[in-house]
Amino acid sequence: MKILVVGAGPAGLSFATLMAEAERRAQVTVIERGAASEEPGWGVTLRDNALSFLGLGDPSAMKALEGRAFFHRGERVVDLPNPATHLVTVSRAELTRILGERSARAGVDIVYETDGATLSDADLARYDVVVGADGANSGIRRRFAEAFGPTATQGDNEYAWLATPATFSKLTILLRDEEVPLLAWAYGYSENRSTFIVECSAAAFASETSFRGPADGCCRRIAEVFESELGGQPVLHGPAFRWQRFAMISCQRLAHRNVALVGDAAHTTHFSQGFGTMFAFDDAIALHAALMSAPDTAHALESYEASQRPKIENFQATSAKSMRWAEQMVAAGARRDDRAVRDLIAARWSNNEVTQGPLDDFRPQSRSDRPAEQLGPGILDGALRGYRLTQLVHVVAKLGVPDALIAGPRTAGEIALDVGADPGALHRLLRVLVDVGVFTQTADNRFGLGEDGQLLRSDVEGSLRPAAIMYGESWWWGAWGGLFEAVRTGRTAFDQVHGVGLFDYLASDAEAAQLFHASMGLMTAAQADAVAAGWDFSTTQQLIDIGGGEGALVRAILALHRHVSAVVFDRPLAVEGARKRLAALASEGRCDFVVGDFFVEVPAGGDTYTLKDIVHDWDDDRAIAILRTVRRAMADSGRLLVIERVLPPGATPSPAKFVDLSMLVLTGGRERTEAAYRDLLERAGFTVNAVVAVSDEISVLEAIPV
Ligand SMILES: Cc1cc2nc3c(=O)[nH]c(=O)nc-3n(C[C@H](O)[C@H](O)[C@H](O)COP(=O)(O)OP(=O)(O)OC[C@H]3O[C@@H](n4cnc5c(N)ncnc54)[C@H](O)[C@@H]3O)c2cc1C
Repeated sequence: MKILVVGAGPAGLSFATLMAEAERRAQVTVIERGAASEEPGWGVTLRDNALSFLGLGDPSAMKALEGRAFFHRGERVVDLPNPATHLVTVSRAELTRILGERSARAGVDIVYETDGATLSDADLARYDVVVGADGANSGIRRRFAEAFGPTATQGDNEYAWLATPATFSKLTILLRDEEVPLLAWAYGYSENRSTFIVECSAAAFASETSFRGPADGCCRRIAEVFESELGGQPVLHGPAFRWQRFAMISCQRLAHRNVALVGDAAHTTHFSQGFGTMFAFDDAIALHAALMSAPDTAHALESYEASQRPKIENFQATSAKSMRWAEQMVAAGARRDDRAVRDLIAARWSNNEVTQGPLDDFRPQSRSDRPAEQLGPGILDGALRGYRLTQLVHVVAKLGVPDALIAGPRTAGEIALDVGADPGALHRLLRVLVDVGVFTQTADNRFGLGEDGQLLRSDVEGSLRPAAIMYGESWWWGAWGGLFEAVRTGRTAFDQVHGVGLFDYLASDAEAAQLFHASMGLMTAAQADAVAAGWDFSTTQQLIDIGGGEGALVRAILALHRHVSAVVFDRPLAVEGARKRLAALASEGRCDFVVGDFFVEVPAGGDTYTLKDIVHDWDDDRAIAILRTVRRAMADSGRLLVIERVLPPGATPSPAKFVDLSMLVLTGGRERTEAAYRDLLERAGFTVNAVVAVSDEISVLEAIPV
């Protein structure tokens, strides 16, 4: 097969490498307009699985980002640790070098300083497949514009892609609105360089003469505006410096005859998402997979188009939201509207829509492509067959298969030897999980980690491994087997199946307790961010989190509200976990830990008490008993925040209904309506002052002593 790739960026080089590695008989040529040594831009962000994703060797070239931060007028207003999805950064030049070297090793012929525009139709016809990987201004797309049907939606802001020697260890957004309103996106990508992308409104661009003059003067002005955040360091520009408006490019078709578009040539996503490069990889992988599995080129390009089309629509919708978010932030700054700035910050960190990236949803195959083994229609099929997947994922997580694949793909025999399993049985299990995207499988039967598989590694922040193990363990799995009796009798399934309540069970089984607290902590983390961003903690000084588990809520609140100190109160095993996770805050003197029983006594001295996901664990009598213990410890001026899912009335869909059933099975508790919470709190000596939904799922009920 003869393949021509136009453009040696991430999309072109990764596609060329995959083809040359998989198909030794393929002749793959890449032509690139620039020179081999050209610096094509500053640093870019990638997901941390990008390297193993493509098997790209040398992870030391990558720099891990440590979370997210937002600065307004030089003040840090958001300071979050990493979410489940880690970002790493790398210089564009380094990435292109790594990709170029691997392409060359695979036998790809890379011809630099050759313009795709010089190719005649006869030249193109000499290849079985021609791939347009020539970036956002693709000449290949322009050449067949009628067939590809490109459109471009332009952003309102002007932006410039710059750099600085100042270090930013987090993905940092900076807003300055004193003189000229400017928004900057900064992240370090090497020891002495950070990417620094600056945005401003069209009006500010028109009125700021230094922006329209020579690059040096423009960078000096920007460095002046961000002087305190940059510590006086300069802002740098490259030879291709220019201000421009972002253009979101979409195409009606991705393939025409034997020509396919990949990466930015096919679609662009706004730089604030930081996923363009990953998306370029994704296209390369999808096109390669289609060419390897379809009977001929025409079918392959059709299947490539079908697999990428829904992703593009989905990601560009998110990308448009992220772009508009930045525009609204710049506009709010220009109006000096601090309230709008605050709301926009809260929206970005509690509403994943604007921060979601293309590969958050990436699966190797779309659902409709997957082998069908249908038993019933729609939801029934999942219900009747879903129980098996729970156990499959449980088994690989418990064996530690994802951990055994961190260094790269291996055969089932090699993995089995490592984790202690039967090679034949393990192979049969893994190939099923390949079909649903947890693992990948190469032509020579080596299994690697798929997107979901990455989340089952024990070394990733937000690992789902504890939950995957717990849901399949006999003590949890068996309790759900008791649902029939629970519904018949109204009695808690767990108690009936195990002869003891969940929390007493956990007190006697350290391994189960550790799994439980780790899983709950993970679930709580995203909700905790929403509470921290969505509730006004400005008057809180000393917070006491009752039943605080491993400290996820306290961590989120203390990260966002620097003036708050907190106590985590829970049973011994949970507090042990919290001590480890919050060691840094404890060493700053901002966090303490108390072991106890909330039916007996809780610490006094807090001005704010929180009970997150506690009241719903218990029936009314015991819930009131807990609330009364808190009331006894509280000063009359204190306040209690009950953080729960509030059941909506009637048939309104709500995740709370499922959680309510979990309570019937596991703890004997229940989810409640707002009226029921008001009633409980009144019976415990409180009155409800406010009810605020901080996310689609979670509300804060503020109660004060009567
Ligand atoms: C300001 C800014 C910040 C960004 N930040 C990030 C980020 O943090 N993370 C991220 O993942 N993405 C980021 N991106 C997007 C990312 O750079 C692109 O999505 C990604 O590079 C697309 O890869 P590609 O291979 O499709 O195209 P490109 O990287 O654009 O590569 C195209 C290649 O084709 C060559 N070429 C062009 N025309 C011709 C021709 N006629 N003949 C031969 N060769 C040609 C070019 O020289 C280039 O080498 C950012 C983009 C911008 C504008």
